[in-house]
Amino acid sequence: MAKIFCVANQKGGVGKTTTTVNLAAGLASVGQRVLMVDLDPQGNATMGSGVDKRQLALSVYDVLLESASIVEARVRSNWGDEGARAKAATYDVLGANRDLAGAEVEMVDLERRENRLKLALASVKDEYDFVLIDCPPSLSMLTLNGLCSAHGVIVPMQCEYFALEGLTDLVNTIKQVHANLNRDLKIIGLLRVMFDPRITLQQQVSDQLRDHFGDKVFNAVIPRNVRLAEAPSYGLPGVVFDPSAKGSQAFVEFAQEMVERVKKL
Ligand code: ATP
Ligand code: MG
Repeated sequence: MAKIFCVANQKGGVGKTTTTVNLAAGLASVGQRVLMVDLDPQGNATMGSGVDKRQLALSVYDVLLESASIVEARVRSNWGDEGARAKAATYDVLGANRDLAGAEVEMVDLERRENRLKLALASVKDEYDFVLIDCPPSLSMLTLNGLCSAHGVIVPMQCEYFALEGLTDLVNTIKQVHANLNRDLKIIGLLRVMFDPRITLQQQVSDQLRDHFGDKVFNAVIPRNVRLAEAPSYGLPGVVFDPSAKGSQAFVEFAQEMVERVKKL
């Protein structure tokens, strides 16, 4: 049965989508069956998986409004036909595009609207080892659907001073969802991303995180790496675009750490 994880941080541009698509590709590369759910109307995780969000016949929007099932709406990540990349492991994608921005309003009158995704995932959870949900940079009804579906939250964060402040809000939200809506939910771990060890402040914040959160901080650290930033413009995760890049290797290490960590859940 699949373990379901949200990649969430209400702060924008902290590396959620980069983490989601590279973890998905990294897990696929070590033989795991993965479904990636894009819960962000920006559709970046969809595009970054080689799926054109403008050409989606069905998307997570249709699933949330119950006009399609996940089996009908999912597509496969696509690395193109040429070269070594074409052979890289793929994963399933429940894509998103701008339609999803309307879902929030359209769901207002629906009962148990925060549980729509959870109900839809129940029918496919035996087909996967991991479901990864890329959340938008807000604590909206969409993110709430992600949090209500998940066993845990992966929190990517940059080691900056204000990152710790933002974390307090997220931790409080997760506590509330845990108390009221989803008793399974917990923080699986904090992932240090865009890390630059030459910057003293980043080292200090990293040490503080370790002191405060202990083994909730993943061992894997994702460095700042230009290849990870270039990959989305090719519609690829960095792990597929340039497997030898430092950032890609760090994500494969992270995938292996996740495989070990779920055994203890
Ligand atoms: P949003 O809140 O808008 O959804 P996000 O949290 O999903 O953003 P990303 O889109 O993953 O963040 O990353 C923000 C930017 O930083 C992107 O341009 C991405 O390519 C770049 N980036 C992410 N991780 C790294 C990294 N390790 N090294 C270099 N660039 C990175
Ligand atoms: Mg994003």
